[in-house]
Amino acid sequence: MKHRKSFLSAFALSIPLVMVFYSSKVYAAPYELGFENNPSYVPNNVIVLTFDDGPDYSNTAKVVDALKSKNAKGTFFINAENWSSISQDEPMKVLIRRIVGEGHELANHTARHLHLSALSSADIEKEISEVEVDVKNIFSGQGPRLTILRAPYGDPYQDNDPNHPSAAYNLVSPIVAKHAVHVGWQIDASDFDCPDGNGDCVYNNVTSQLATPGYGKNGIILMHAVYSQTVAAVPRIIDYARNNGFVIWSVNDLVKARYGKISGDLIGAPNTPFPPNNPGGNASGAVAPQIGGTYNLVSKNSGKCLDIEGPTTADSARAQQWACGNHQANQEFKVADAGSGKRYLVAVNSGKCIDLRAANTADGSQIQQYSCNGTDAQILTFSVQSDSSYKVSVVAGGKCLDVAGGSMMNGGNVQTWTCNDNAQQRWFFKP
Ligand SMILES: [Zn+2]
Repeated sequence: MKHRKSFLSAFALSIPLVMVFYSSKVYAAPYELGFENNPSYVPNNVIVLTFDDGPDYSNTAKVVDALKSKNAKGTFFINAENWSSISQDEPMKVLIRRIVGEGHELANHTARHLHLSALSSADIEKEISEVEVDVKNIFSGQGPRLTILRAPYGDPYQDNDPNHPSAAYNLVSPIVAKHAVHVGWQIDASDFDCPDGNGDCVYNNVTSQLATPGYGKNGIILMHAVYSQTVAAVPRIIDYARNNGFVIWSVNDLVKARYGKISGDLIGAPNTPFPPNNPGGNASGAVAPQIGGTYNLVSKNSGKCLDIEGPTTADSARAQQWACGNHQANQEFKVADAGSGKRYLVAVNSGKCIDLRAANTADGSQIQQYSCNGTDAQILTFSVQSDSSYKVSVVAGGKCLDVAGGSMMNGGNVQTWTCNDNAQQRWFFKP
């Protein structure tokens, strides 16, 4: 306190010093995703799954299991010394490596889950950097930089008025900004308030706020990685979201949507292992497919292109999604006439047809390329949607081309699935 007072007095007595202070940008810009409803930088069908307070011994691994079972990604805001000790407990170190290894974002929730606004500058710094050091050690220096942070209790961010920043905000935010983008939330699952194991309670808390795109909230969902009721609700929340037209983004997808860069690039930690997911394909440049025309099929969900693995010209090569290249031949498909308003899609690279493997009509059956043979496993129907995308169904089975699990990743499997309105079944045809 004494030190702070004399610090301020020095500024009050020296205008030139104040000028130097501002122009030299001692503090990094406070990049923040806030708490406002339906933020303008978030499309109204986007949600983000975030899990605070882990890791713990009982439930965090089960949350990771649940995400894996749904092929979905989340963001884990971890503490160092809360429900476990990540500096001491070997199983927790293993769990943190697993979280990163399975493609989730790892983020900082500070060491001991204290109210930052009640601490000194030095202690705030320590609460943040201690987690960074522990994670660095867990990965032997090869791990992720934690450039996303959520203050415990959202304090002092949640109630701050940007036009009249509080003293607490002025204390905490410049310190946080040196380390990370601060991330709030839009939808509070209030899972801590639900009875043990009661997934209904958490599910209802979330879905009642989500509703459907355009009719409820969207953006970041706040949950906790330490409750059995959250474990029970997560798969159902993901199913609800996908069945109602939502797509799941990462926190860094939102950071990029707002600031044009991911958190590591904003903060100056360029080797962050969390490249953003492609924030989805859009109708820009999309056309109605014509017989004889050649197109990329861009997934509305991921923004990635239908792609033949390899690339190879062999029969039975798997169809997947992959980042769209510069008209690579294994991502180009020619539309051919199959009569009666039906179509084939012929891979330009191989001359082979998009094909339902073994004409298997069960959900989850593989799409591949195969020598064109005129069977119903290769005859397709295109149906245009209101967003200018197309659903592509296979006459054998009548099911739709679908990216498994709504994956955003390169290599995501393209299968057939009972047609629905999910973005993972919508494709933009781009010449
Ligand atoms: Zn917390």
